[in-house]
Amino acid sequence: MVQPVSDEDSPTSAAFGQPTTKPVLQAKLTSKREPHSLNFQDSYLCPVCRHGQISALTLMDAFACSFCRHIFTANLQNQTVQVVDSAQPLSWRWNGRSWQSTHRDDPSLTAVVWFASIVLVLLPAAIVWLMAYIFPPLPNSAWAWFPNVWLGCTFGIHLLMVSWLLAEHYQLSIYVASRVRLRSWLNRR
Ligand SMILES: [Zn+2]
Repeated sequence: MVQPVSDEDSPTSAAFGQPTTKPVLQAKLTSKREPHSLNFQDSYLCPVCRHGQISALTLMDAFACSFCRHIFTANLQNQTVQVVDSAQPLSWRWNGRSWQSTHRDDPSLTAVVWFASIVLVLLPAAIVWLMAYIFPPLPNSAWAWFPNVWLGCTFGIHLLMVSWLLAEHYQLSIYVASRVRLRSWLNRR
């Protein structure tokens, strides 16, 4: 069962809720903004879903996300983490404030994905258009509108499929987060 964890319930909001004096609050906010190194005592925003927090797994040189449940191996010397339970070897470097992507996509795989995407979007729509062009409906027939609607549906649905393929390939954070939300919603039913 996935427990959605808000990334807003950080020490900052706790500080706002408490009747702290202004200088203390200021100090807390500054310390939060100051760059800090990657270590197993702190938690960090998850680089995959950009929603959960990753924190160290007990007795392991690894982090786990509280939201999407991805597991990362960490290299504290290089300040990098790499996701281990994913088809793609995605990795990021911690620069003290945020994550920077360090993975280089497999160029041949990326080329295949883009080629397949373009073919999937254009080819079926082109066939439908060609059929409507070669065999146009009678101008005043009741179904004259049909080829255009069919062309729109073909193009739209293939575009949707390709968007999913690309979101999966690039592991877009908004896509990963919505997938986790959908899964937890389905589990609750
Ligand atoms: Zn996550």
